[in-house]
Amino acid sequence: MVELYKAEYIWIDGTKPTAQLRSKTKIIPVGEKPPIWGFDGSSTNQAEGSDSDRVLKPVFTCPDPTRGGKHVLVLNEVMRTNVTTPHESNTRAACVEMAKKYGSFDTWFGIEQEYTLMDPKTNKPLGFPEDGYPGPQGPYYCGIGAELAYGREIVEAHLEACLEAGLKIAGINGEVMPGQWEFQVGPIGSPEAADHLWIARWLMYRIAEDFGVSMTLAAKPMKGDWNGTGAHTNFSTKQMRVDYDACVAAAEALKTRHDLHIANYGDGIEERLTGRHETASYKTFKYGVSDRGASVRIPWQVAKDKKGYIEDRRPCANMDPYVVTRLVLETVCGAASRGSSNGAKPAARVPARAAR
Ligand code: ADP
Ligand code: MN
Ligand code: MN
Ligand code: MN
Repeated sequence: MVELYKAEYIWIDGTKPTAQLRSKTKIIPVGEKPPIWGFDGSSTNQAEGSDSDRVLKPVFTCPDPTRGGKHVLVLNEVMRTNVTTPHESNTRAACVEMAKKYGSFDTWFGIEQEYTLMDPKTNKPLGFPEDGYPGPQGPYYCGIGAELAYGREIVEAHLEACLEAGLKIAGINGEVMPGQWEFQVGPIGSPEAADHLWIARWLMYRIAEDFGVSMTLAAKPMKGDWNGTGAHTNFSTKQMRVDYDACVAAAEALKTRHDLHIANYGDGIEERLTGRHETASYKTFKYGVSDRGASVRIPWQVAKDKKGYIEDRRPCANMDPYVVTRLVLETVCGAASRGSSNGAKPAARVPARAAR
């Protein structure tokens, strides 16, 4: 009898404004690699019924920690039936091109993925009572104890799964709103950072499902005085890792294309970046040392060491990391290679501000 394994084919669909993950299983003889496959694009907002076939092109494979054994997860790019043309919903192809163009910059990304665990019966975050509200924000961030931490068994199972899958995970923490958590991917180049993030997202949806819990990346899951949910994107070029001026130049470059970045940083950004709950309003761009009220933060350690990385605090949790990392590469490496900087003098001095 032929020995078989299960390959879970994962792809990103064409739902707007926020794409959704989809997956289905293929049984493959051991010894054979996951082949090109297809699906019904008319059910995923990726095709009309009259011309519905879309192609799945495997781009990243890792062990499947949900099934264990020899089973695998397979991340795909969606292609047209000629197999060589990326479908409009395929944002990875352009990211790969941009990463190639600026490959000499050796850019690393560290993405802080925040998310909210929800009770599907009440459609409220874990920790929210059926009627009314929990106590106000303050003690939940990195909180310990049954009255502060909701869903930790899911968070731990997810972390374990990410490590088993071989994903580059930097850490996890409880967040500001009850039921809200974070994991970080990186530091690692793109598209790898984005590939790992999409797989880690898939794992979170899938593992929470076993607990009867749903996960949302909504930018502002609870209206009112509750923090939104972000995906702070930390990054560094080779030059930034040795030279502080290059870090400041990167922040200055982001300033020149603020509106373009905001328009591509995830649905609901206006509701999340009001200027009231950490991070500047989406209408303004400012950066500063240790400033969590800024659009872009230069960590204190970086200001002290005079080298390192910067944090773009604007992206929402539901952003597409292929789009965000592509834009950062284009804006920051583009400005540096146009010669104004590449480590040269910044246009303005960094306003120093105390941490809070
Ligand atoms: P915060 O204090 O904002 O919560 P975190 O510790 O959650 O910060 O996340 C910081 C992220 O920055 C991590 O994902 C880490 O891997 C990443 N990081 C650290 N150094 C670099 C670097 N030189 N370039 C890019 N990312 C980096
Ligand atoms: Mn963090
Ligand atoms: Mn956070
Ligand atoms: Mn952060």
